[in-house]
Amino acid sequence: MAEDFIQNANDAEIAVEVLIVGGGFSGLCMAIKLREAGMNSFLLIEKSDDIGGTWYDNRYPACACDIPSHLYSFSFDPWPDWSRMYPGQEEIHDYLKRCVEKYELGRHIRLNTRLHEAVWDEKESVWHAAAGEGMRIKARVLVSGIGGLHVPQYPKLKGVDRFAGPKFHSSTWDHSVDLDGKNIAVVGTGASSIQFVPQIAPRAGKLYLFQRTPAWIVPRIDFPIDEKWRRRFRRFPLLMRAFRQYIFWRQEFRVLGFLGNRFVRGKATEIAMRHMQKAISDPKLREALTPKYELGCKRVLVSDDFYPTLTRENVELVTEGIAEVREHGIVTTNGIERPVDVLIFGTGFRATEPLIGIRVVGRGGVEIHDAWRERMSAYLGVTVSGFPNFFLLLGPNTGLGHNSVVLMIEAQVRYVMSCLKLMKHRKKGVLEVRPETQNDFVAHVHRRLQSTVWQSGGCHSWYQDQRTGENTTIWPGSVVAYLRRTHSASPADYELT
Ligand SMILES: Cc1cc2nc3c(=O)[nH]c(=O)nc-3n(C[C@H](O)[C@H](O)[C@H](O)COP(=O)(O)OP(=O)(O)OC[C@H]3O[C@@H](n4cnc5c(N)ncnc54)[C@H](O)[C@@H]3O)c2cc1C
Repeated sequence: MAEDFIQNANDAEIAVEVLIVGGGFSGLCMAIKLREAGMNSFLLIEKSDDIGGTWYDNRYPACACDIPSHLYSFSFDPWPDWSRMYPGQEEIHDYLKRCVEKYELGRHIRLNTRLHEAVWDEKESVWHAAAGEGMRIKARVLVSGIGGLHVPQYPKLKGVDRFAGPKFHSSTWDHSVDLDGKNIAVVGTGASSIQFVPQIAPRAGKLYLFQRTPAWIVPRIDFPIDEKWRRRFRRFPLLMRAFRQYIFWRQEFRVLGFLGNRFVRGKATEIAMRHMQKAISDPKLREALTPKYELGCKRVLVSDDFYPTLTRENVELVTEGIAEVREHGIVTTNGIERPVDVLIFGTGFRATEPLIGIRVVGRGGVEIHDAWRERMSAYLGVTVSGFPNFFLLLGPNTGLGHNSVVLMIEAQVRYVMSCLKLMKHRKKGVLEVRPETQNDFVAHVHRRLQSTVWQSGGCHSWYQDQRTGENTTIWPGSVVAYLRRTHSASPADYELT
């Protein structure tokens, strides 16, 4: 990272038009679009010591995207040199760092600066934010790009604090821990776990994989993109765009299965079953790996090496629940204790708990967590009634199970820009979504969800609010439908004052 623009935030008071929180795909996309529009009075604060978000935090072995990067990247900044269909964390992180340089965002970014609190000042119509070590920021507009998958979820395990060996979460991988020949326990079989387990299994003495619920896993079909093709992409940008379009429509088609099309879901289920049966011949293991809910209800995973890894002599899939963690072992509910030297959590993130560790106080002194006591919600996942000039990127019900979320981020940033333009054209300083607009939208999302696999597929997933079981994370439609709805802000939806 170019050190010259990375500063610790000790400037005491800063005033800007727009304050962006988070330096991942969302925050950077917002910053780029503001720059392109010539709106240079903005600041992006990031709590980590580098930009990248997901792609800086997650550095576990074989961490990679599961949507091909020709689509999992900005549409306005295609990259011809992706080394393979699913490049690793480092390559995606490099891509984002290149964006920072290319769009000259450096001087707008403050690293090591966590947002603690933002309070709406009704008299002045500005947000007062407290960040970093005593930094105060005054901003007319507040944009949250803090993502949903960055606060690790740890399972509540009896005795876990007594464990004597190293233990860490996949997103805070401790590379100093020597795994060679060790007895390793991995808790969780989600998207991260199925990427790193095949990498560490050959090095382990014994690897115990504790599975609560099996995932549906389909073939990954990853391959290197050779220099010949990269040259073609460089020379013929239209070819690269066509390739992106092809991937987009291939992914987009899959939404039919999630939305209730039994034929598409049935075909995908057949593919996943065949994929598992091809690698696993032991009937007991097959049974343990066969999900009892419909494909798509939980995130569908992609992997070619996970199932073969489970057939290794030194790997054991443990399906009994964990009763207790001891100093040097894990005891399951059937009383068996397995010796463990290293404990790794592949247990995902606190995805349904919004704005963790941040106080956002809107009109009338209402804190956003109180406003969301029953359900977190936002109009189009972006604006929240009672919170003027506040925009969420990848807010409630705008995650995807079938396509690249970068598409959603871009749609939302375009929408925020249209809100800012609306304010400018109408010469208004404050924009707030009407409560009835937000309520109608939430009711629409709720109705749409009922017939989808996420609500009726017979599973508990991290898409659902733990308290209510309601799906508050996933967009119950196609990306195309979302693009249409967010094309531009309608004045009828907002109070402009
Ligand atoms: C391992 C992994 C693989 C994934 N693969 C895919 C994929 O293939 N396809 C896909 O569509 N999605 C994938 N995702 C989802 C991924 O999170 C999103 O695609 C995308 O990276 C979200 O970008 P973001 O900027 O919204 O959030 P993030 O990348 O999480 O960035 C948010 C940033 O905000 C910062 N932040 C948080 N709180 C504060 C605060 N209080 N103050 C200041 N800064 C703060 C964080 O440090 C972080 O840098 C994956 C997620 C993970 C974890």
